[in-house]
Amino acid sequence: MYTGQTEQPCCLCADDDTVARLDLPPRAVTLMRNADPIAWRDIVGEVSIHFCESDWQLVRDLVLEMGMLPLSRCNVAHASFSLREDFEALLNATRDEPDQTELEGRLLARSLATIDDPDAEPQAAVQARVVVHALDELGVADDVDVDAHAVDHA
Ligand SMILES: [Zn+2]
Repeated sequence: MYTGQTEQPCCLCADDDTVARLDLPPRAVTLMRNADPIAWRDIVGEVSIHFCESDWQLVRDLVLEMGMLPLSRCNVAHASFSLREDFEALLNATRDEPDQTELEGRLLARSLATIDDPDAEPQAAVQARVVVHALDELGVADDVDVDAHAVDHA
């Protein structure tokens, strides 16, 4: 089951002891491992992935120093998010398919601002780069000059 989980282990090694979390737009799950059964459009709100201490150091280096996107190694089964069905059951109402572009636009703008902020916390800096890099890879950030914000595509 992928629904309604709040506490999740490390998405790389399944260690229960996690030290960091990244909040990502739902479409980013399509870049993760085991993402096939997930209907990302039905995800409500952001998707969170968690990292244990040693994996977090690795991810931080990969993202900040090498400009790499670590999501393909993250197991989506260890991501936490809510699916729309939960909310419908809760509200006993049917809603239109949620439009993810507003959330993606908001996350993208916030992330670009964080990347441009020299005083950003390391976790925020990593999250911002992963969000921008993921949305760029998914073609969502096409009208943004991602390179101007120091994301390395190497
Ligand atoms: Zn780990």
